[in-house]
Amino acid sequence: MDQGRQSKPDILLIIIDQLRLDYLPFLEKTGRLLPYHAICSTGSIPSSTEAMHTNISTGLWPKNHGFISKNPKGRENKGQGLDQLIEKFKQGAITPIGHIASANGYQVINLGAKEETVLTMSLQKHADLQVASQSGKLLVRGKQDLLVDAISAKLKDKKYDIYPIFDLGMPIIDLASAALRMRDAHFPLFLSLALPDIDYYGHKFGPHSPNVIGRLKTLDEHIANMLEEHHSFMCYLVGDHGCRRTVKYVMETEHPHLAHIYHEENDELSYEGKILFDNSVEQIEYDGGILRLWFSQRGATLDEETIKLISTYGKPIDARLPSESDERVSRSIHENLGELVVIANNDATFCKRSWIDKEYHPLIEAAQPLPKGSYPLGEHGTYHCEDTAIPLLSNQKLEKDAYLNIELNELVKNDLYT
Ligand SMILES: [Zn+2]
Repeated sequence: MDQGRQSKPDILLIIIDQLRLDYLPFLEKTGRLLPYHAICSTGSIPSSTEAMHTNISTGLWPKNHGFISKNPKGRENKGQGLDQLIEKFKQGAITPIGHIASANGYQVINLGAKEETVLTMSLQKHADLQVASQSGKLLVRGKQDLLVDAISAKLKDKKYDIYPIFDLGMPIIDLASAALRMRDAHFPLFLSLALPDIDYYGHKFGPHSPNVIGRLKTLDEHIANMLEEHHSFMCYLVGDHGCRRTVKYVMETEHPHLAHIYHEENDELSYEGKILFDNSVEQIEYDGGILRLWFSQRGATLDEETIKLISTYGKPIDARLPSESDERVSRSIHENLGELVVIANNDATFCKRSWIDKEYHPLIEAAQPLPKGSYPLGEHGTYHCEDTAIPLLSNQKLEKDAYLNIELNELVKNDLYT
């Protein structure tokens, strides 16, 4: 038997995408099994999935890890945000929690649907098993061949391919339970699970929609069953960010400098007007809770009239000026944030064109109303409380009532070093 085994606890980190603080009552069974509760705040902007998972995994703010968005500099550089982070992991400039676990003699298993929620936890070469979706298909990788082969076979058996990415929460819990039964119990285990379902339903149908509540209850059953079967784990369950209901839309159009403004009225989006950015703006990235702009010339900014108009929908902040006093912003100042950022007001969103089904794009271009069901009802990314206050549940006594998400890294690290 491995001598170090008895003293090292197995650790389970579950991240439910878009878990709002007030969803806690819907995790009734899990809440009983993980009886210590606290608030876990996002603490930085934007509260994007990728940035918040990286905060948790690295214990660093976005100004230090830089993974603010999958699109760091405008739409031409798609995918680069994750590549940049992976490069920093490879060089050892930043250490994700999975590497610390591995260095402490832990087996590392990272399971999730969205690629960025898995790869922020560990490089593939440090993980015994990783499952993540790539181009709509679940891929199995890792250095422990037995586990990789067994989980690959299970994926084939069960035809998991039929699940769209947003419905993968239960299959991921199922795979985790299978991996727990098959793994080599001589070694302690660090297992991370990233569950995508609530984020999808929250965006599409809005927070507290029947779709969200129904899925929370189902996830609660599955998580509780897993915890009951593997009750020796030290477990932390948390969200990455919350969700808020949106009714005002600054909509990306085909024209690189033109946004169309909509608002919800009688269950549809009515066209209201437009914003035309001048040619000094080189790139614009619509990110829901945040609008990010880069200029073609140093020191350029928006004209007064555009600033006034955009201020109806959010708070413009010049990220090039060092004097920003809001700490949630200063924790995220980084070249990938953009030069001018507009943080959405409570019920406004900067809607990416690709979030609307293609068949409705001609309506956007023609400034026509958009029918119910064609546009998202929930968003995150601001520093509004419904986006930023997340529940933290554990079976370990928590010393504080409120944490910042980067502090979760410290909690898990302390357990790894036990
Ligand atoms: Zn998320």
